Amino acid sequence: MTTHDEKGAAGSAPEVRRDFIRDIIDEDNRTGRWGGRVVTRFPPEPNGYLHIGHAKSICLNFGIAAQYGGRCHLRFDDTNPTKEEQEYVDSILGDVRWLGWDWGKHLYYASDYFQQMYDWAIQLVKSGKAYVCDQTAEEVREFRGTLTQPGRESPWRNRSIEENLDLFIRMKNGEFPDGSRTLRAKIDMAHPNLNMRDPVMYRILHADHHRTGGKWCIYPMYDWAHGLEDSVEQITHSICTLEFENHRPLYDWFLDALGIYHPQQIEFARLNLTYTVMSKRKLLRLVQDKLVGGWDDPRLPTISGMRRRGYSPEAIRYFCQVIGVNKFNSTVDMALLEHCIRETLNKTSPRVMAVLRPLKVVIENYPEGQVEWMDAINNPEDPGAGSRKVPFGRVLYIEREDFMENPPKKFFRLSPGKEVRLRYAYFITCREAIKDAAGHVIELRCTYDPATRGGDAPDGRKVKATLHWVAAEQAIDAEVRLYETLFTRENPDDMPEGQDFTACINPKSLEVLTECKVEPSLKDAAPLTRYQFERMGYFCVDSDSSAVRPVFNRTVTLKDAWAKIQQKGSE
Ligand code: ATP
Ligand code: MG
Repeated sequence: MTTHDEKGAAGSAPEVRRDFIRDIIDEDNRTGRWGGRVVTRFPPEPNGYLHIGHAKSICLNFGIAAQYGGRCHLRFDDTNPTKEEQEYVDSILGDVRWLGWDWGKHLYYASDYFQQMYDWAIQLVKSGKAYVCDQTAEEVREFRGTLTQPGRESPWRNRSIEENLDLFIRMKNGEFPDGSRTLRAKIDMAHPNLNMRDPVMYRILHADHHRTGGKWCIYPMYDWAHGLEDSVEQITHSICTLEFENHRPLYDWFLDALGIYHPQQIEFARLNLTYTVMSKRKLLRLVQDKLVGGWDDPRLPTISGMRRRGYSPEAIRYFCQVIGVNKFNSTVDMALLEHCIRETLNKTSPRVMAVLRPLKVVIENYPEGQVEWMDAINNPEDPGAGSRKVPFGRVLYIEREDFMENPPKKFFRLSPGKEVRLRYAYFITCREAIKDAAGHVIELRCTYDPATRGGDAPDGRKVKATLHWVAAEQAIDAEVRLYETLFTRENPDDMPEGQDFTACINPKSLEVLTECKVEPSLKDAAPLTRYQFERMGYFCVDSDSSAVRPVFNRTVTLKDAWAKIQQKGSE
């Protein structure tokens, strides 16, 4: 289900919004709970690329640190060797930096704490709070019980401290095969919270780790590891998503059992977006099965995909500010994200002219070989952006859809006998449409009025349409990629019985136009440069682009679906 409670927020977001987490921090600062310190962290697991959901968490954690004069750690939660890779670490570093945040010297890896974690585990074994269990994963699950039924105690639960110590050390020394034993916390198999029923702390896994190599063959489980990482780093507010709310008692139990520095875990609602998927497992599947072009495919909600698509870091940060932070899971409309992108790009993107589906126009009364360089404004929203010259000549291109041979009543653009304005240039009138053998219009013959140079008629006559255009002689050939949502369903996570989420991939999510003509000022545009193509939307130079073959991605259209939704809501 989509909720629109964010309605009205866009466009009026204050610099820093209030939220329940900032309220907690204010209160902590008032009571002196942390001695005025504010230390947060962003703890990604390097098992995939970051997505817009992570951006919400990043902006929250780094934003709070910045606002309160504290600090935010970037910590790789690299406790699972089989799924983690250096490639992901590198991409995450790049993405957080690109979003505009700085962790300073506070870059950490959970794997650097493996020895400390192990020592703490020994401490729990020695105090009788952890035991080595020989149950298989299957048996552990079976004995755990359910929400309505208490669990049963493992037959290994009452081993002596000496035996536990001996077995655990031997587990670490590599004497036992994968899956044969675990170290478990001794809590309560009848606890109403299933997470408290003797959770596994360590498993045996003879696998090389991307940083520690073959040093370890036991690896800590998330719930055991995470609080310890926070404790080592003296985090004050450990902010995570709502799924971890009923893990908090366990987070607290471990830290209290050890008697070590104890941060406060706080949960907030994760971001969900319509028409996309956010689970790393699903994103990985799309990439591995080549259903998209890679992690940075501009249709993905990944940070690298959005960057390539043309979203700016400011726009993503603005979006995160607009959606705010709360305690209830909901799904944000993709239209709101695009609205935020548009608002930001509108202020910062130079306007240029590009014709995506060209139709040739010959101005019959314009002197052959003549070129005039017309003044074109770079950004009406930004007077400081100045102007540039665009060439005008006898042969031009206009957008195919700007001409109709037999127009309906309200079509004010070009048709036989009609006059329109060419932006920054002249009024032209269509005299004739030339067709090929199949009857398709392939060229327009027009005339221009030399008195209308710059776009105004001295006799005051008006035209109802202004078209963009590109002069043929100086035009640059380009490829343009148009994107729609990657999925046709609003919620691809909620498929009909028996259908995989890939069944609703939008076959029209990518359209490649190869015959485009763009104005010469775009000649050496560097990858990732953003523009507004007048009347066509916002576009960004693709990373595949070259001087030989410029490629542009459509970032977002000009039509603001969010404004419409807002309007409807207030009617
Ligand atoms: P997945 O469950 O898809 O594997 P994850 O959430 O476990 O992803 P992590 O790398 O562990 O991925 O996430 C790092 C941080 O980002 C965590 O603190 C997590 O709470 C936060 N995060 C992840 N997804 C979202 C989301 N959709 N909205 C807000 N925060 C998120
Ligand atoms: Mg995780």
